[in-house]
Formats: sequence, structure tokens, C-alpha cells
Amino acid sequence: KTIPQAFAETVARRGPHVAAIFREAGRRFSWHELAREVDDVAAGLLALGLRKGDRVGIWSPNRPEWLITQFATARIGVVLVTINPAYRTTELEYVLNKVGCKALITAARFKSSDYLEMIRALAPELAAAEPGRLAAARLPALRTIVRMGQERSPGMLSFDDLARLAGPAQRNRLDLVTSTLDADDPINLQFTSGTTGAPKGATLTHANILNNADIVTRTIRLMETDRLCIPVPLYHCFGMVMGTLGCVTKGAAMVFPGEGFEPASALEAIASERCTGFYGVPTMFVAMIDSPDFKRHDLTSLRTGIMAGAPCPIEVMKRVVTDLHMPEVTIAYGMTETSPVSFQSDVDDPIGKRVATVGRIGPHVEVKIVDERGQTVPVGQSGELCTRGYSVMKGYWDEAEKTAEAIDADGWMHTGDLATIDRDGYCNIVGRVKDMVIRGGENVYPREIEEFLYRHPKVSEVQVFGVPDARYGEELCAWIVLHAGETATEEEIRAFCRGQIAHYKVPRYVRFRDTLPMTVTGKPQKFVMRDAMIAELG
Ligand code: ATP
Ligand code: MG
Repeated sequence: KTIPQAFAETVARRGPHVAAIFREAGRRFSWHELAREVDDVAAGLLALGLRKGDRVGIWSPNRPEWLITQFATARIGVVLVTINPAYRTTELEYVLNKVGCKALITAARFKSSDYLEMIRALAPELAAAEPGRLAAARLPALRTIVRMGQERSPGMLSFDDLARLAGPAQRNRLDLVTSTLDADDPINLQFTSGTTGAPKGATLTHANILNNADIVTRTIRLMETDRLCIPVPLYHCFGMVMGTLGCVTKGAAMVFPGEGFEPASALEAIASERCTGFYGVPTMFVAMIDSPDFKRHDLTSLRTGIMAGAPCPIEVMKRVVTDLHMPEVTIAYGMTETSPVSFQSDVDDPIGKRVATVGRIGPHVEVKIVDERGQTVPVGQSGELCTRGYSVMKGYWDEAEKTAEAIDADGWMHTGDLATIDRDGYCNIVGRVKDMVIRGGENVYPREIEEFLYRHPKVSEVQVFGVPDARYGEELCAWIVLHAGETATEEEIRAFCRGQIAHYKVPRYVRFRDTLPMTVTGKPQKFVMRDAMIAELG
């Protein structure tokens, strides 16, 4: 099945029922309304000359136009390139040129960033260009820029223009175009989060992401009566595969609290729309539970959801189940390159299992854990996690070498994550291969120390990483965010560790910070912290 086929089936079945609610933009769509807008824009893209396999970029926070564009591009087989809203001109130029986007659909602004100004800086030719005929020296493939909303800007189309562009000829062609698509065609180019370095563009097919969306939402028992709150960004697979596409496979309603994540607006959305499900990375759950608004809202409608993207501290999980009323919350583990989810806990798993592991491998995927020489390790031992199956991407776009490093000749995706799997198949992510610290010959897993430091009553957030050291090879460093109003000393933190964890695991350096460097998906960027520490230590 292709994505537009799945979408059409749900529209036929769920027509007048609510499909999506955008609270910040104040818009609600039924499935029928959404399908109509999707077709308008899909026909508009055809009128612009875009064809199956062409790339179109989207650069925007979570807005109604995002959802419409996702299913409009899929309708005609155009590959949607999802661009991180945190990118600035250099990264935007890189991505657009790297994959040769012919069109860019962009928000005008997000928070304090003026996207149009950044685009004009890259393409000064825009001011004099006829819409759809751009020829910019620095963006050679790009012809069309569409700005979201009704307003026009010189050289650009508005999103409303795009929706009105097509005549009957293009509209009548839509069904024919859709019927020529194949489930193995590329349909999305998604970039990895950039947690360990520069983001990489993963080429994903209809079959990759549609099947993954279906399986993941079946596991959390999502049904057409559900309303899923999606505060995670749409440019990332958590939002656009597990979120939007997952809701399409089940006919469930999507609730978007706002353009970006704010604990207050997420809580407000859950309570006002009586959401039954919620998706987030651990830091979002923490921010909501710690928010002063937390107690004000009735959150008892919640039942299910997914926490993914980063390790979940045990304390956080317990509070999500009890304080957030999410007994069916599951943990998922995955990566952009595998569409994304490979492991997921089950709603029936005992809480103990759910907090200690990321669950078991999903259907139709094989898994193995290998040592440095590529040999499968005995059950229970740690090594690099590898997966193989329907969910593995086609490759990194135009990066044959990087693709060959990640996917071996036998089709195994090497995840770069260290894991163990027990006899019952439950997987525990130990950390990233890159993050493992070797101090004086001892292997240290930062996550273990983070788990320990979370038990300190003053610690709100903590990240542990290695910095180079002349004597020991590497030394451990902890960056800590304390709970509001708390103060602590380095020595106090180290004293807390002593006698509780082995001496070589006690961080040599402890630093207190107001916030930690994060990707927009809410993942701590240890390479940024490490670079800052290296600079500080000289
Ligand atoms: P980059 O590849 O650019 O460095 P990234 O790996 O963070 O960034 P994603 O593809 O968004 O980009 O994230 C996948 C990674 O997130 C996994 O490889 C894993 O390290 C981490 N991860 C995902 N889910 C979990 C989880 N439940 N527990 C622990 N880690 C997780
Ligand atoms: Mg990665």
C-alpha cells in the first residue's frame, strides 16, 4: 500500500469526524476537509510542474500547512524533505542543494526567527523573480518558494495561491498519478537529529514509514475514537511517522498544542481536547510534570502514548504512569534510518520491565548484537545493536560511502547504539558507541552514572560525558541542571557518589548549568557539551 491509498481509505471511513486540531492556529479539520485541502495543494504542485520523485522542502514548525503538505506531496509521489526549524541559512542552503529541492514551502517566521529574511539572504534574486521561475546563484535547483498563510511576498507564492493554482486538468489527473506510485518509491527525506554531529538525510519509502506507523500505533492500541496530542516536531519521524501517519492508519484525531513545545500549552491542550494519548521525549514529560500548571488541569482522559528518543530515567517513568495517568505508556526505541521504531514495550508489560528496557523487537524485523569484530555476542552481553528488515531506509541521500558504513552488504543496519538483549527478548540500550567513555582502561557507560545522579534530590537534569585526559585517556564530566531555587557544589555531588558507585565512575568535573544544549527534538547534544568543556579545560 502507498501512503495516499492509506489516507484515502481513512478519509472514506472517517469523513465527517475530526482529523486534526491546531490549537495555536485555531483550526480544526474533519477528514473530508483535510482531504479537500490536500487535493488542492497536490494539484497545485502538479501545476507547478512537480512530478513523482522530485524533492520539495518544508521548513516550518507544527502548523496546519505542514500536515496538508505532507499528504499533498505523498498524493503525487513527491519526496518531502523535512527541514529542521532550528536550521539557519548555512544549514538550509546545504540541505536544499544537497538533495536538489525544486520547491520550498516555508513558514514566514517561528519565534524570533524571520525565515523569509534568511531566504532572501540566500537568494537576493527573489525580489525580481517571477513566482515559480527563481534562478538563484546559491540555490541552483530551487524554482519556487511558497510562504505559508495568505500573505504574498515578492517572488513567492502564498500557500493559498498554491491551493488555487490548479485547473480542472490537474485535479482530474490526481487519481491517475496516485495509481502510478509504488510502495517502494522514496517518499520522505528525513534528517537525523544531529545528536552526535552533522545530521544525515535518510531516504525512506512509503513501505518503510507506513508499515512502521501502523505497527507502532497498534502496539499502543490507538483507535479511531482516540485523540493523540502531538507536541513533538513534525519535521522529525516521531511527529510525522509515529504521529500523523500513525493517526492516519487508525483514523484517530491529531491534536497539535502549538508551533513548538511549551509545557503549559501541552497541558492545556490535553485537558481541553480530552486527549487520550500523548507523545514526547523524556524531557517533555519532565517539563510538564514539573510545570506550575500541572496540578491545575484535569488530565484523566489520558491513557496511552509513547516516550521515545532518549533514555527514560526510572523516576520519570513512574511519575508518568501515576501522575500523568498513562498506564499504557510505552517506551520506544528507534532511529530515523529505521523508519523509526524497532523496539517498543507492550502496554501489558509490567512497569518494572517497561522502565528497565525498551521492550522487544517489532514484527518483521531481525536483530543481533555484535562485538567490535562483528561477531554476535552471547545472550545478555553488550555490543552494537544491528537490525534488518522492512524498516531499514534505502540509504543516505547521495552518500554512498556513509550508507555503506551504516548498512552492510547483508542488509544489517548498524545503529551506533550499545545494547543488551535478555533471554525473553527485552532490549536495554546502554548508550551510544560514541558516548562510551574509556577511563584508565575501564569501560564506563555515562547513562549508568546519569541514572544514579538523578537520585540526588537537587538534580533536575544531568548529562555525563567524557573529555580527553592526558593521564587516564578520558575523564568523566557531569553537567547538571538543579531544581529551581537549589544550589549545590561540585564537592557535594562527588561526595554523593563516593561509596555508592565505583571510584572510576565518579565524575572528575561537575558543572552547573541553567539549561543543557539540546536538539529541537529535545535530545542532549553531548558533543556540544564536550567541546565546551575541552575549551574550558584548555
Ligand atoms: P545523529 O544520528 O544525527 O547523531 P540521532 O541519532 O539522535 O542523531 P535520531 O535518528 O533522531 O538521531 O535518533 C536515534 C537515536 O536516538 C538512537 O540511535 C538512540 O541513540 C536514541 N534513542 C532513541 N530512542 C531511544 C530510547 N528509547 N532509549 C535510548 N536511546 C534512544
Ligand atoms: Mg543517529
